[in-house]
Amino acid sequence: MRLLVVEDEEDLADGLRVGLARTGYAVDVATDTAQAYDRLTVNEYDLMLLDVNLPDGDGFSLCRALRSGAVPTPGAGDLRVLMLTARGSLDDRVRGLDGGADDYLVKPFALAELLARVRALLRRDTNGTTAVLTVGDIVLDAARHLVTLRGAPLALTPKEFGVLQYLMIRPGHVVSSEELLEHVWDANADPFTQTVRVTVGTLRRKLGEGTIETLVGRGYRLRSEA
Ligand code: CA
Repeated sequence: MRLLVVEDEEDLADGLRVGLARTGYAVDVATDTAQAYDRLTVNEYDLMLLDVNLPDGDGFSLCRALRSGAVPTPGAGDLRVLMLTARGSLDDRVRGLDGGADDYLVKPFALAELLARVRALLRRDTNGTTAVLTVGDIVLDAARHLVTLRGAPLALTPKEFGVLQYLMIRPGHVVSSEELLEHVWDANADPFTQTVRVTVGTLRRKLGEGTIETLVGRGYRLRSEA
């Protein structure tokens, strides 16, 4: 899952980036609305954490522009928006939700609460993602960040976890390297490296040969009966 954090307070933005990345999300940061627009028109995000007071505008307008289709962004329909603000008045909450935000969190908040809200929003997925995914012998519990294979815990790196989660939402479907790079890695990933191939390779070794098929020139497929 790939997240965009739009927040101009550097310490907070950095804390969110680190905390979310540690949980296995790919995270990009924008510090104003101009940067946010740049990111949104290029990358396909699953969720955006959006501060209300930004140096060059406000989060409400950005959210409305996004929802009205004024910003041509890939996959905007599936993008969840969680507004972050120091202003906790009822007016602001209503305004945020009316403008197309999915949820609202008032600063200051604990990272644990933010992570719980993020998980809840990502569960409300058009693909029917649930907290616990099961494909054959593999069980992935997103909330507890656990994977088991035939009942035994499997130690995965955050990227392996991200790739597996993405594939488990789409068992039997071919997923391209570009799509994985887009959703599991952040903007610092070099699209010309072998990082996706290498990660899929180590993940496949842990799951057992044959669980993830490589379709040359097309991508990867998790065997639905894996
Ligand atoms: Ca701010």
